[in-house]
Amino acid sequence: MAKVEISITFDPGLHVFVSAANRGVGAGVATDGVSSLGHVVEALGVPLVEVGELVVDGRVVGVGHVPVSGERVEVRKLGFPQRVGGSLRFLLDVHLGTLARRLRVLGVDAAYETPDVGDAALAAWSAREQRVMLSRDRGLLHRRELFAGAYVYSHKPAVQLDEILDRFQPVLAPWTRCTACNGVLRAVAKEEMRDRLESGTAKAYDAFAECESCGHAYWRGAHSASLDAIVEQAMRGR
Ligand SMILES: [Zn+2]
Repeated sequence: MAKVEISITFDPGLHVFVSAANRGVGAGVATDGVSSLGHVVEALGVPLVEVGELVVDGRVVGVGHVPVSGERVEVRKLGFPQRVGGSLRFLLDVHLGTLARRLRVLGVDAAYETPDVGDAALAAWSAREQRVMLSRDRGLLHRRELFAGAYVYSHKPAVQLDEILDRFQPVLAPWTRCTACNGVLRAVAKEEMRDRLESGTAKAYDAFAECESCGHAYWRGAHSASLDAIVEQAMRGR
C-alpha cells in the first residue's frame, strides 16, 4: 500500500481527543492511500459525532474522501445548536445516571438503565428509538448503528447538563417527567391521592402527579432543594 503523507489541523475544541503531537497547525500524518478521511480522523482519536466540516485544501469534503499525498486537511468542530431529525430524545450510558435524572426533571426524554446492557445493545436501542446516545466512551460513539451521538466532555454532572442544554437546546418542561423511570407524569386530583398520603402531606400540598409508567407519586414542593436549584438555573434565560 502506498504511504500517503497529509497535514492535518484540528479545531482547538477537538484537541481533548488527539495526542499532543497532533494539536499543532498542519501536523504531519501518514495514511495508507485507501482509508477514508473519516476513518483517519477516528483513528487519531476523534469521534466523528464531534466533527463538523472536513475541509481539504479549502474545499469541504465528505467523510468518505480518501486523502492523497500533500493534502492539507482541516477538521472543524460541530457547530451548535445541533439539530437531529424528529423529536429530540436521549439515551445515556450507565455512567451518566445523575445527568439522566437532571434531564428528566427538566422534562427532557432521557432513557437510562442499570445494569450496563453493553455497547451493542445501547447502539441498537439508539437506532430503534431514534435516541441521541450520550457517552464519555469513544468506542461506543464510534459505533455505526447509532442514530446520533454526542460526547459528554465534563466529569461533573452540573457541567454535563450545561453542555447538553447548550448543544441541543431542548424544549424544557420542568416537573413533567418521572426522575426514576423517565415516564410521563399526569396530574392527579388531591381527592384521588388522599388515601396514598400521610395526612400531613395531604394538608401541605395541592398539586399532585403520578408517573404513567411506574406509578410513582409526586407532589409539588416536596422535591429536594437541589433539584429546585437545577430547574431554576436551567430555566434562567431560556
Ligand atoms: Zn416512573
